[in-house]
Amino acid sequence: MATEKTARVWALKDFDVGRSLGRGKFGSVFLARERESKFVVALKVLFKNQLEKHNLETQLRREIEIQYHLRHPNILRLFGYFHDSTRVYIVLEYAGRGCVYDLLKKEKKFESPRAASYVKQLADALHYCHQKRVIHRDIKPENLLVTMDDKIKLADFGWSVHSPSSRRSTVCGTLDYICPEMLENRVHNYAADNWSIGVLLYEFLHGEPPFMMEGQMDTIERIRKAAYEFPPDMPKGACDVVAKLLRLEGSERLPLPDVIAHPWIVEESSKYVGGEKEATVKE
Ligand code: AMP
Repeated sequence: MATEKTARVWALKDFDVGRSLGRGKFGSVFLARERESKFVVALKVLFKNQLEKHNLETQLRREIEIQYHLRHPNILRLFGYFHDSTRVYIVLEYAGRGCVYDLLKKEKKFESPRAASYVKQLADALHYCHQKRVIHRDIKPENLLVTMDDKIKLADFGWSVHSPSSRRSTVCGTLDYICPEMLENRVHNYAADNWSIGVLLYEFLHGEPPFMMEGQMDTIERIRKAAYEFPPDMPKGACDVVAKLLRLEGSERLPLPDVIAHPWIVEESSKYVGGEKEATVKE
């Protein structure tokens, strides 16, 4: 594939396009192979009229610009983009196991070693983003992809901004992962992502996020008070990590290097071996 220095201009004719990998709100994602290098990628196809209709051109430009410059083993690479008269094509790293949302739907919840390993990889990716002054702001299972060798790849930088920010965020999907300060449209910073990691770890182990309620207003109320309960079977070490991340005050949330170095994360993630087919736990 082209490097930054030799960035080449692609067109659809440079790719053999294969099966659909999934559908998003504004287009579809296909498995594809660059003809010259035989390099396998995921090709995201977005319709220009949809982007215009929803006023998403600026957001997409920012997403591409930010993701293109991020280089980390747990961040999905964006190799480039091109367009024709009706569509925009984004050339992405291929993540063979799809998104964590689908994995969770299928498997209900994850064992501790897998949950700890995923959280550790995500915290590492986000620590790298934060050092580059980028906050992701939309950490949720749909935006985490998994490769065939079980590596987490953080994707979808559509809501990301430079920290600190007072940019409003119109939440279209679930509210479950959003921190209290963003919910109330207050100025927020990196700690917004730390909160979401706490929500994710809870969900990985329990199968449902901590503030989930039937009605959105009830979810909002609970997030604003950080009101949640631990299920009796949640490991004590995991409860400690979650409790230190789900703090109303952003500055009190556990810093990401401390998440990575937390004894429960270190011990449990060391037991996990991701595999080609089925992920296994070391005896
Ligand atoms: P999106 O439009 O980004 O929401 O993607 C829709 C679906 O396509 C996701 O839920 C994934 O199942 C799949 N998908 C997106 N990007 C990739 C990728 N880079 N590798 C593999 N599957 C992907």
